[in-house]
Formats: sequence, structure tokens, C-alpha cells
Amino acid sequence: MRAVVKYGQGDGEVELREVPEPTIGPQDVLVETQAAGVCGSDIEMWHHDVTFRVNTPVIQGHEFSGIIREVGREVQGFAVGDRVVSETAAYICGRCRYCLTGEYNLCPERLGFGYGTDGAFARYVRVPARCLHRIPEGVSFEHAALTEPACVAYNALVVKSRIRPGEPVLVIGPGPIGLFCVQIARLSGASPILLVGTEGDGKRLAVGRQIGAEVAVASAEEALAALQEVSEGYGAPLVVDAAGNSAALRLALEAVARNGQITKIGWGPAPVGFSLDLLLTKAATLQGTYSHTWRTWEAILSLLKTDALQMEPMITHQMGIEDWERAYRLVESREAVKVLLWPEG
Ligand SMILES: [Zn+2]
Ligand SMILES: [Zn+2]
Repeated sequence: MRAVVKYGQGDGEVELREVPEPTIGPQDVLVETQAAGVCGSDIEMWHHDVTFRVNTPVIQGHEFSGIIREVGREVQGFAVGDRVVSETAAYICGRCRYCLTGEYNLCPERLGFGYGTDGAFARYVRVPARCLHRIPEGVSFEHAALTEPACVAYNALVVKSRIRPGEPVLVIGPGPIGLFCVQIARLSGASPILLVGTEGDGKRLAVGRQIGAEVAVASAEEALAALQEVSEGYGAPLVVDAAGNSAALRLALEAVARNGQITKIGWGPAPVGFSLDLLLTKAATLQGTYSHTWRTWEAILSLLKTDALQMEPMITHQMGIEDWERAYRLVESREAVKVLLWPEG
């Protein structure tokens, strides 16, 4: 089969390659990919602008849905033909205190699909059965493929943040994760919801307005002015950094209310480069968040089943894996919100 393979540790070292079909172990299933989302981290890996270790060569792609085509002999509860999505923790140790308490997203030995083990930008992917969730009836493969980024937002806002109905939330960064944060904030009753991007985010900000942001602006100044107005100068009790760069954190510190919380989802390899003293004078909390767990996945699948999440505006492009480079460029240029890839026909 052909697959999108990151083959080296340098900029641009990704290509479409012929690779053997994966073989499965007793506790795995073989999934035939139906749709796989391109993530911002796939573009960072393409440029090798990453702060995590990449096990090259590796097939990229960690947001996917598919059909089970083969089942390992020890697997119970799943059968050939089942429609499934997969969590991203392809390998966990199973013995550490995080694994044993169900917080396996924090397992120090965790390896994810698409960078640690082979991912889904190919026809077939090997998946340990413990990663699987059933796609509810009536939910398409395309929508289900976005479960993962929706889970990142859910974990950040519902599990790791204090979010209160009737209080404002500022989301920095209108990428897919930021837009799912807007949606989860809306479902949690936060109001008003403000979204801020930068110049060039026009399309994504328009989607933000469509899915529930009352304010969607392209500069920090405009965001702070709007926030000033809606909060009578107090700032946002919750600020979500879904951008990850230094300017985003700086804006978060200025925007957060006293005693408020900044939840940081966005990654960035560059040093912060400014003082964090505002965090202290505001007695604010800076909260990290990472990945998601079984319960998060079931919650998002339940929201998909009841149409509580608006998925159509999130998916702007779909194409075959042979067009991976065009897909990556669409994401990089922020022309796209989410691009879905299919295996070759
Ligand atoms: Zn992702
Ligand atoms: Zn572990």
C-alpha cells in the first residue's frame, strides 16, 4: 500500500511511499481507514519543527475513522465490519500510576499514532483493541474522524478548566482545536465567547462566528477591547491558548481576569521571552492539558450522535492521500479548517 511517510528528521522529509501492509498481534485489529484528518502537528512534523521525538520512518495521521477488516485472536467485543474510531495512545506501558488510574494519556512511555507508531495516512492501520470506540449509528466516517481534535478541546475545557455558564471565555487561535473549544464552551453555557486570530485567519474566524463565537477578531487589540467591554474591565475568567506561540500567551496574561485561569493547549518550540509576573499579580492559574482518555471519547461520540457539535463547517476540504502535500499547504496557509484524507482508490 502507499502511505504518507515521514522518513527523516529534517525539513520536508515526508513523501508518499510504498510500504508493506501492517500485520496485527493477538490484541490488535486491522482498520481500513475511511477518513483521516490533517492536524497542525502533521505540518510541524513535515518541517520537523517539533518538540517531541519522532520515530522515523513513520506513517503520519492520528485522527481517523475506519472499518475493522481483521481481528486478533485475543480481541473480544469487536468484529470484522465494525465501524470504529481510535484513540491516539497507540502504546502505553500499562504499569505506571497513570496507566493504572486511567490517566494513560500521561503515561511517560506513551507513543501516539503518526509519530511514535504508524498512523492512518494509508489504507490500513494496526490498532490495539483497547484504543477502539464504536461510531454511533447515523454518524458519518467524516465526522467521526474529527473525534480526536474535539476530544482535545473537551479535555482542555471540561476536564482541565473551570468553565461557568454565563461567564465569558476567550479562545486564542481559530484552528480546528480552537474552533472546537468555541463549540465546547458554547455547550458548557459560557457567554459571551470571544475568538481571536491574526491576519490571514479570515476564513477560520468566519467559521468561528458560524459555530458560536459572539466576537471573532483578527488582532489582540480588538480582542482586548471587546473583552474590556463585555466584562466591564474585569477580563475573562477563562482564557484558552489554542495557538501556542509567545504572543498568544502574552495576550492570555493580559486578558485573564484576576483569580482566572489560562489553559494552554497550543504547542510552541520557541522560548516565551517575557515576564510571567502578571500571572502572579493576578493570582491566575496557568494550566497545561494533554490529549484525552476513554471517557472523553465516549462523551464526544455522544455529542456527535445528538448533533450537538456542528461538524460541517469544520470540514473544508477532502482529498486522497496522493494529494497530501496540497492538503498540508492548505492547512499551513490557514485556507482550510480541517482537511480529510482518504486512502487511494
Ligand atoms: Zn491532532
Ligand atoms: Zn504507563
